[in-house]
Amino acid sequence: MYMTSAQLRRAFLDFFASKGHQIVSSSSLIPGNDPTLLFTNAGMVQFKDVFLGQDKRSYNRAVTAQRCLRAGGKHNDLENVGYTARHHTFFEMLGNFSFGDYFKQDAIQYAWEFLTEVVKLPKEKLWITVYATDDEAFDIWTKHIGVPAERAIRIGDNKGAPYASDNFWAMGDTGPCGPCTEIFYDHGDHIWGGPPGSPEEDGDRFIEIWNNVFMQFNRHADGRMEPLPKPSVDTGMGLERIAAILQNVHSNYEIDTFAALIKATAAITGATDLNDKSLRVVADHIRSCSFLVADGVMPSNEGRGYVLRRIIRRAIRHGNKLGAKGVFFSKLVGALAEQMGEAYPELIEKRAVIEKVLALEEEQFGKTLERGLGILEEALAELHGSTVIPGEVAFKLYDTYGFPLDLTSDVARERGLTVDQAGFEAAMEAQRKRAQQASNFGADYNQALTSAQCTDFTGYSQIQGKAKVVEILLE
Ligand code: ATP
Ligand code: MG
Ligand code: MG
Ligand code: MG
Repeated sequence: MYMTSAQLRRAFLDFFASKGHQIVSSSSLIPGNDPTLLFTNAGMVQFKDVFLGQDKRSYNRAVTAQRCLRAGGKHNDLENVGYTARHHTFFEMLGNFSFGDYFKQDAIQYAWEFLTEVVKLPKEKLWITVYATDDEAFDIWTKHIGVPAERAIRIGDNKGAPYASDNFWAMGDTGPCGPCTEIFYDHGDHIWGGPPGSPEEDGDRFIEIWNNVFMQFNRHADGRMEPLPKPSVDTGMGLERIAAILQNVHSNYEIDTFAALIKATAAITGATDLNDKSLRVVADHIRSCSFLVADGVMPSNEGRGYVLRRIIRRAIRHGNKLGAKGVFFSKLVGALAEQMGEAYPELIEKRAVIEKVLALEEEQFGKTLERGLGILEEALAELHGSTVIPGEVAFKLYDTYGFPLDLTSDVARERGLTVDQAGFEAAMEAQRKRAQQASNFGADYNQALTSAQCTDFTGYSQIQGKAKVVEILLE
């Protein structure tokens, strides 16, 4: 059944509303209740305190389409972008939640009904995983729903520790946790990959679409698993992954919203091959960067701001590869707002600010990118058969030309090379020590450093200064 991304989002919210769920708006990419979490990386983040019993809502069933970011922090899919068919840095997670209300039986029933009756996926293409010892979930799937046992796979502790499994979810080392059941879609044997649990599971043939987590226990520091008095349900389904199925394409990057962004990127950069991996990277990154700025993150040298800066610079490098001349990235905000502005009006309201922030970063980095790439090429010519780029080189690119380490690693990966990360860290540490010694002697090392760098790179502080101005505009 064909559906646009917008129709799918609506259908999901409406379906769960019809089952008594409160439709709750997406929260910000910056978690409001958790300073330890870099970004909102799942639908449950805004409900964390409700699950912990520390917050009460007027409803005990909720449904959301949550904007999520998985770059930096515990969940980091930045390196997957451009390489897999299914990963983005920014994506939307559709989720239904039960706060001590319904549990496994209803959750599984709802998921199956939505997939097979609302969006009408062929049952025989759906595969199921459950936690190895979760007989209850296994029986619901095989006996009640009727999924053949050969397509219901038990996944044990595949991560080398008790309760460390793709099918066992935990908020942290202690606290709420429980088994989960995941639903996979088989895109067909023309694509490489194997079912979950098989040696080829990392391929893109069997794509995970929906995770249903059953919060069932409270884990204590001594390892004791105490059953929760009111078990809960937390689910997450990637909107782009199911849109791909409904739109008869394999890759998330071919769905309606991405096709439009990729076209716009090709038009601006002059790229002619619409399958170029760099187009996918830029289209992915304009989403994450625009939403980050809309949610108040500014490029900087630390924390969330540095993640944003890294993604922008990576996008600029890929745009440069595609043939972009001058500022191009910020010019894609309009195309994004056209695609997603209806669901996320902030993209339209804040469009001018987003464009300004991205353009500033582009102007700054554009100046040093070419020279840095030149230095990198020289270093590559000196490798003499080695496949490892020395840490010193990566550090120089970082320090003088503003190349985040993952940007250098990205170039390396394209050539089948790696970067000596330990060497990079060591060079960084050595510079820190030198700076400390210099300041011990009373010399203003930082001053010297800034002016020495001015010829090559105008310095982060200037960018941050400009970002401040924009920050004021934002308020
Ligand atoms: P995968 O194994 O494919 O990396 P995951 O197990 O890390 O996915 P979950 O943490 O279970 O994903 O998140 C719930 C759902 O969110 C997934 O089933 C998937 O549909 C979607 N999802 C997760 N990560 C991404 C991503 N980087 N881009 C797009 N969708 C994603
Ligand atoms: Mg993952
Ligand atoms: Mg997974
Ligand atoms: Mg999963």
